[in-house]
Amino acid sequence: MPEGTPPTVLVVGGGAAGRACAQELRRSRLAGSIQIVDAEPGGPIDRTLLDKALLPGLLTREQIALPPIEEVAVTAGEAMAADFDTRTVELCDGRRLTADAVVIASGAVPRSLNGISVPSHVRLHRLHTADDVEALQESIPQAVGRRVAVIGAGFSGTELASHYVAAGAEVVLVGRSVLPLEAALGTEISPRLAALLRERTDLRLGTTVQAIASCGARARLSLSDGSSVEVDAVIVAHGSVPATAWTGSPEGIRVDDRLRTGERGWYAAGSAAYMVSDGMRLTTDHWNAAIAQGEHAARTILHDFLGAEDPGPYRPTTGFNLRAFGSTISVRGLRSPSGSERAAVWPTEPAHPNAMLTEFVDAHGVVTGVAGFNAGPALAQAASSIV
Ligand SMILES: Cc1cc2nc3c(=O)[nH]c(=O)nc-3n(C[C@H](O)[C@H](O)[C@H](O)COP(=O)(O)OP(=O)(O)OC[C@H]3O[C@@H](n4cnc5c(N)ncnc54)[C@H](O)[C@@H]3O)c2cc1C
Repeated sequence: MPEGTPPTVLVVGGGAAGRACAQELRRSRLAGSIQIVDAEPGGPIDRTLLDKALLPGLLTREQIALPPIEEVAVTAGEAMAADFDTRTVELCDGRRLTADAVVIASGAVPRSLNGISVPSHVRLHRLHTADDVEALQESIPQAVGRRVAVIGAGFSGTELASHYVAAGAEVVLVGRSVLPLEAALGTEISPRLAALLRERTDLRLGTTVQAIASCGARARLSLSDGSSVEVDAVIVAHGSVPATAWTGSPEGIRVDDRLRTGERGWYAAGSAAYMVSDGMRLTTDHWNAAIAQGEHAARTILHDFLGAEDPGPYRPTTGFNLRAFGSTISVRGLRSPSGSERAAVWPTEPAHPNAMLTEFVDAHGVVTGVAGFNAGPALAQAASSIV
C-alpha cells in the first residue's frame, strides 16, 4: 500500500485492550476502516465487574457491557486461525477478514484443573463470563451456612472469598503458593494479605487439590497436605492462560516494547501479549494495563503506517486494586523479579493505622513499582516516582 494511505485495522477481541486500541485510532481521526471481531457471548464486557457487581446483583449483564465506539464495527465471531503473510483472520463460521494491520487482543481464559478426574455430578465453577456468574448464582442462591471451596488464592480467588464470606458462607481457600500474590505484592505486603485471609477464611496455603470425589450432594476435596474437606460448591480461580491458541501460539504472543509481534502488520496487547525483559517473561493481567497497551499499540500503528510520532517504549505504570474483607491492596508498575524492595517514604501521613507502602527497585536502584496495603491516596503519590 502507498506510504501515507490510512491503513485498515482489524482488532481481534473487543475487551479492555482491543477496545482501547480502536478508540485511540478513532480519536486520532484515522480515516481507514476499523473493525473489531469479538467472541464474547452477548458482546464485550467490563470483566472486572463480574465479581464486584454482577455476582452480588448490583448490576445487570446489560450494564456491564462495554459501550460501542462511534464508527467502529463490532462483529460477533470467533477467530480460529491466522495467516500472518496475508494478515487474514479466519473465523469459526468460515468468514475470512483481512486488514493492513491486525491487533491480537483476545485476552486470557481461566486455567483449568488439569490431571484431576471430577465426578460427573460435581460441577467446577469458574468466573470469566456473565454465563459463569449465572451458573454460580444458580448453584449457590443462598450463601448463608454453605461451604464454598475457592481454588486459587490470587487476585480472583481472594475477591471471590471476600464476596462469599460477606454473603454468609464459610470459605475454604486453597492456594498453591506459600504466600498469596507474592510475585506481585512483594515480601512485605503479601504476608499481610495472608494474615487477612487467615482471619476470615479456612486458609490452606502451600497446598494443591489432589482429588475430587462426590459425597452425597457435596464434593470432597483431597489436598496435598493429607487433609480433606467437604464443600457445597467448588470454584476454580487459579490463574489464566492466554486465549491465543487460534494464532498457533497458545503460550501467548511475544511483543517488543512497541507492542509489535515481529510479523509485519501484526500487533498484540493485553493479556494475550507478553514482553521479555532481562530474560524474564512480563505479563500484566490487569484492566488498566490492557487499556494502556491497547492505546500504545494504536500509536505504534499510526507511527508505522502514517509516520506519526514514535510512541517510544511501553512502560508499565498502571496497576490494580484488590478489595477484600474491607482492605485495599494496590500495586502500580511492576516488581522486577531480579530487583529488591524497600519501605517507601510516606508522602503524607498514613490514613489507616496498619497501612504499609513499599517500593520495588531494579538492579540499578530505579523505582519500577510501588505496592500499598490500605495506603489510600499516598499510593498514587508514591507511584509518581516510577520511572
Ligand atoms: C472475575 C474477574 C475480575 C477481575 N477484576 C479485575 C480488577 O478488579 N482489576 C483489574 O485490573 N483487572 C481485573 N481483572 C482482569 C481484567 O479483566 C483483565 O486483565 C482484562 O480484561 C484484560 O484485557 P484484555 O483486553 O486483554 O482481555 P479481555 O478484556 O478479556 O478481552 C478479550 C476479548 O477477546 C475476546 N476473544 C477471546 N478469544 C477470541 C477469539 N478467538 N476470537 C474473537 N474474540 C475473542 C473475548 O471474548 C473478550 O471479549 C479481572 C478478571 C476477572 C476474570
